Amino acid sequence: MSLLVWFRRDLRVQDNPALWQAVQDARERAQPLTALYVFDPEGVGGWAPGGASRWYLERSLLSLHETLAGLGVPLKVERGRMTDVVRAFAHKVRIEGVYWNRVIEPGQAALDQSIAQSLRQTGVTVEVFDDDCLLMPEQLRRPNGERYKVFTPFWRRALELLEASPATVRLRPVPAPLDRQLQVDPGMLQSAGIAGRAAWQQKLAHHWMPGEHAALDRWARFFLSGIEDYDHTRDLPGLAATSRLSSALHFGELSAARLFAQCAERLAHETSDAARAGIRRYLAELGWREFGRHVLYGRPDSINRSLDRRFDQPGVWKPDPDGRLLRAWQRGETGIALVDAGMRELWETGWMHNRVRMVVASFLTKNLGIHWREGARWFWDTLVDADLASNTLGWQWVAGCGTDAAPYYRIFNPDTQAERFDPDHLYRSRWLPDGLRPTPIADLKTSRERALSRYRMAVKGEAA
Ligand SMILES: Cc1cc2nc3c(=O)[nH]c(=O)nc-3n(C[C@H](O)[C@H](O)[C@H](O)COP(=O)(O)OP(=O)(O)OC[C@H]3O[C@@H](n4cnc5c(N)ncnc54)[C@H](O)[C@@H]3O)c2cc1C
Repeated sequence: MSLLVWFRRDLRVQDNPALWQAVQDARERAQPLTALYVFDPEGVGGWAPGGASRWYLERSLLSLHETLAGLGVPLKVERGRMTDVVRAFAHKVRIEGVYWNRVIEPGQAALDQSIAQSLRQTGVTVEVFDDDCLLMPEQLRRPNGERYKVFTPFWRRALELLEASPATVRLRPVPAPLDRQLQVDPGMLQSAGIAGRAAWQQKLAHHWMPGEHAALDRWARFFLSGIEDYDHTRDLPGLAATSRLSSALHFGELSAARLFAQCAERLAHETSDAARAGIRRYLAELGWREFGRHVLYGRPDSINRSLDRRFDQPGVWKPDPDGRLLRAWQRGETGIALVDAGMRELWETGWMHNRVRMVVASFLTKNLGIHWREGARWFWDTLVDADLASNTLGWQWVAGCGTDAAPYYRIFNPDTQAERFDPDHLYRSRWLPDGLRPTPIADLKTSRERALSRYRMAVKGEAA
């Protein structure tokens, strides 16, 4: 008999509660421990994993395989429906106990329940741990019992709870290795068919090094020398001033708990005002990640529908029958410099600066009138950090139909945004080096007026 640790969105060995407990039990009971990852190509709610994240995931799993081999834990990667694979695997390898960390996403709680139930029926013990958020959605409610809909009170309360009870953020070291020699097998992922072989995916390797070690290095560099400038440079897309850890956080190569704990510890004795402001701002960004998970937990339908249902009425979004406008946006051929630079950064690197994400999303949904879901789908396929909670939150926030959304009359002007946040043209000239620009596909002034009138109709019921 043996034990199984099921990896999900926690591709690391440090601060991993399920792995930690599984290794302790395996040692105590002198039983072998195996690790399993299941790649489900169908995904959740019709959101099958996108191309860029599949590329990232495959490499992150290879790195995890190497690290786990050093701990004496073999990693098996299987393809199929989670429920079927976990059950069949546990049966095939004669597993006595299974350990995993919860994922806060639609459908995952039901999945956990059904797998746990069927394992327990066959006499297998199950231990499930909390890890995806700093505070689980059940721990954070408004005084009247409802869920928070506005970020500022949500984060204020979260900080109060975290500060009052620092034990909530519990870090665990890397477990000591089990007494088992393992070989690394670089071909172990081939049969799982995770990543495609398109040239577009291959070029992502120039920009990213997936895996826990690389993520820890990136974090250490940012924490030591970037965070003190973060508060005033994070909005400038021409600089590499943000941590670029969103994909690492999405796949769980790093825990949000570790970043939070290190920031909180440094805040306790940091004397530089700039560094304190940078750390506080960074914590608030982790707070937005947290908020997205809590919102999605309460409203799982929001991956496909506007949180504010008035925005699902006919007439709010404009048809784009031959897909010409959407294609121009996707290819960075709108003729609007900051939008095109952003879309090219995304295509080239699988990532886009947050300020530019807001601008391109506003242009698509407001100036072009295209449904936020189309933009979210494109991001989903092309971002290495594609994350259901943060992507849904971001798109609905910009489109004005989400929780704590930007008001509908706030329409980013990409040219003004470029002057303000890319004054030296660093960003635009990096991604649009040829200088040749197509004629703009929309006039910013008239398309803004039309967007306002459509939105007024949705919000106030006035005729467009
Ligand atoms: C339309 C739109 C779509 C987005 N889609 C995604 C997505 O699919 N996946 C994703 O991780 N982020 C998404 N974001 C949020 C944000 O743009 C990225 O998290 C950020 O750009 C990642 O870069 P970074 O790691 O350098 O961030 P940093 O500035 O270093 O921030 C640190 C961490 O905080 C979190 N964070 C920062 N800003 C936000 C935010 N606004 N919302 C939620 N979490 C945040 C991320 O985990 C990030 O890694 C989206 C934003 C918008 C406007």
